[in-house]
Amino acid sequence: MINIAITDLITNLILYIQKLQSWFQLPDGSWELGTIIQNFGSESLISLPQGKVLKVNLESLVPANPDILDGVDDLMQLSYLNEPSVLYNLEYRYNKDVIYTKAGPVLVAINPFKKVLLYGNNYIEAYKSKSLESPHVYAVTDTAMREMIRDEVNQSIIISGESGAGKTETAKIAMQYLATLGGGSGIEYEILKTNPILEAFGNAKTLRNDNSSRFGKLIEIHFSETGKISGARIQTFVQCSEGERSYHIFYQLCAGASNILRENLKLKNADEFRYLRQSNCFTIPGIDDAEHFQVVMDALDIVHVKKEDQDSVFAMLSAVLWLGEISFTDIDSDHHVEPVVDEALINVATLIKCEVEDLKLALSTRKMRVGNDTIVQKLTLVQAIDARDALAKSIYSCLFDWLVEQINKSLAVGKRRTGRSISILDIYGFESFERNSFEQFCINYANERLQQHFNRHLFKLEQEEYIQDGIDWAKVDFEDNQDCLNLFEKKPLGLQSLLDEESTFPNATDLTFANKLKQHLNSNPCFRGERDKAFTVCHYAGEVTYDTTGFLEKNRDLLYLDSIQLLSSCACHLPQAFAASMLAQSEKPVVGALHKSGGADSQKLSVMTKFKGQLFQLMQRLESTTPHFIRCIKPNNFQSPGTYNQGLVLQQLRCCGVLEVVRISRSGFPTRMTHQKFARRYGFLLLDHVASQDPLSVSVAILQQFNILPEMYQVGYTKLFFRTGQIGVLEDTRNHT
Ligand code: ATP
Ligand code: MG
Repeated sequence: MINIAITDLITNLILYIQKLQSWFQLPDGSWELGTIIQNFGSESLISLPQGKVLKVNLESLVPANPDILDGVDDLMQLSYLNEPSVLYNLEYRYNKDVIYTKAGPVLVAINPFKKVLLYGNNYIEAYKSKSLESPHVYAVTDTAMREMIRDEVNQSIIISGESGAGKTETAKIAMQYLATLGGGSGIEYEILKTNPILEAFGNAKTLRNDNSSRFGKLIEIHFSETGKISGARIQTFVQCSEGERSYHIFYQLCAGASNILRENLKLKNADEFRYLRQSNCFTIPGIDDAEHFQVVMDALDIVHVKKEDQDSVFAMLSAVLWLGEISFTDIDSDHHVEPVVDEALINVATLIKCEVEDLKLALSTRKMRVGNDTIVQKLTLVQAIDARDALAKSIYSCLFDWLVEQINKSLAVGKRRTGRSISILDIYGFESFERNSFEQFCINYANERLQQHFNRHLFKLEQEEYIQDGIDWAKVDFEDNQDCLNLFEKKPLGLQSLLDEESTFPNATDLTFANKLKQHLNSNPCFRGERDKAFTVCHYAGEVTYDTTGFLEKNRDLLYLDSIQLLSSCACHLPQAFAASMLAQSEKPVVGALHKSGGADSQKLSVMTKFKGQLFQLMQRLESTTPHFIRCIKPNNFQSPGTYNQGLVLQQLRCCGVLEVVRISRSGFPTRMTHQKFARRYGFLLLDHVASQDPLSVSVAILQQFNILPEMYQVGYTKLFFRTGQIGVLEDTRNHT
């Protein structure tokens, strides 16, 4: 079997002989287009833009595509599918505000960071009627819609990319298209209105994105037999860490609440609350929080959250803010503390409707069971602050889940469901930073799974096309990332099992965990132990080194029974519901299950186990759908229009598997042309007369005349399949004839 190295050698040879245009890599890693002027042995003289002429090693050159291929709609149309050609093609289009490009079955979307004139009813109509077919989210969504109806199979649109790349915007654009095509019942408005609600409660400003989603989301939109939307269901995934500013809704509430609401909720300005002051960022340029608050309230009406429930929701938000204001005072010489009975403590108790005494107790003591007795332990300042912050965090995360549940009730599909649906997945992409922690560990594991789904789908598509045309499938080689997944999932000696095991040992530390990994996994080729407490995983998208600091604690996610008891004692139904759902998540039944020793009361399922469970469910749902992939790319780190950073784009193309698609194609036969088209296009180059004029005979004669090696092509029933670069030579001869 011929491999890529030989293919590359041959293309270089062609380059050498033909003196084609080629890419030359500059020291900073970027590429410049040049023309070979002269060749001497293994070196060439190349002329670059601005009159520069360089003598370079032939090996450092990569062939460029002929000009007629500039800015093609689909990267697979390129004769040379190398990295600089892919980068150049995307940039060429981006500079013309054409932000969408296909890479075979994948849609690549480059964030314009400005309004582009590509959306709205006229465009929707044009894609619906197929009078416009250039790559677009609308086109992908349209295909999903058609295939759902034609094949009677559920569809999914899987959107990925790094933070700020445009996933959430892309998901909204797809939803808009579905709502327009499948609208009529009115439920589509409700579905669209879930976006401002979820964004207010689940998004925050970060350094990388002013509107960063801190959760992953799958929205499943259901259709009736006639293709009309009948309902929807939203599933959210474990939240990542918070942003630089807190969740938008806090600022919106502080800025937009009416005077009566302010009075009832004891609200102050955002900059007067400690939790919001931590980031020292109270406004976002160009964003009016008060206006957004009105939008959120209207949206809550539309999704049928009752007015009194809305008031309770806002009361919970204010309670969270006031919790941050609670301070503590020493009560004995052992530095045990209790909350100061002041405005803050009283406000929290009033807002969640509990007794002040109960709140005081929950924030200053911890009940523990020793043998058959329950003893009450007093808290130190650090422990009390932890308990306070943990209570605030759990109220908020329960509130978010509760809202999603209300929305789902409101959008629930009626009895007449057909079960046909299109799901849109907006989920965090692969992350690799200077310092990577537990959050990246979870996110990258999820991406490893999604990547496998992606690879398998591509493999299947390719295979189908080859088999359909009767060509030899065994000549194509694919890679899988199963080894890396095994490193995570294997029991009992995989990353996750070892983490969960270590998390249950009271005396374990991040260091003992790191050592355990090194002890058991060092022989795994996807794993490498590092100095101190770090380890490296070889992901499909590259190596990532994780620092284990905080892994055990973040994975444990303790459940404070005192807090649950407090919430269930409240006279308001929301905290009661929160207490019930927290209990439902705990591993053990809680009555009489107060923990024996140590600080923790009871342990919830580990965060990793929960995450994995959600991911498995997600994958199961996706398995039964026909997937459509959209990869969002961020062209620069400044959220600014018009700047295209090649290095940054290249790294993302690698991480989201677009280069993998290209690679798979390169290892197969990416260029395909029907016998007719091939004969028509190159037949006139034939020097000798061919007896039979049928397209296949003409095609074969052309192949022979141009000495195209048998390993470089395959003849299918209807098409000719070529390895990358082959058509380039024919094109070039054709253009110079
Ligand atoms: P995160 O992972 O942090 O949630 P994301 O990938 O969801 O990031 P978005 O919030 O969708 O990123 O996009 C970031 C910003 O980029 C948007 O707020 C918007 O300003 C801009 N943007 C994204 N897509 C488009 C588009 N198609 N047209 C115009 N602007 C866009
Ligand atoms: Mg987002």
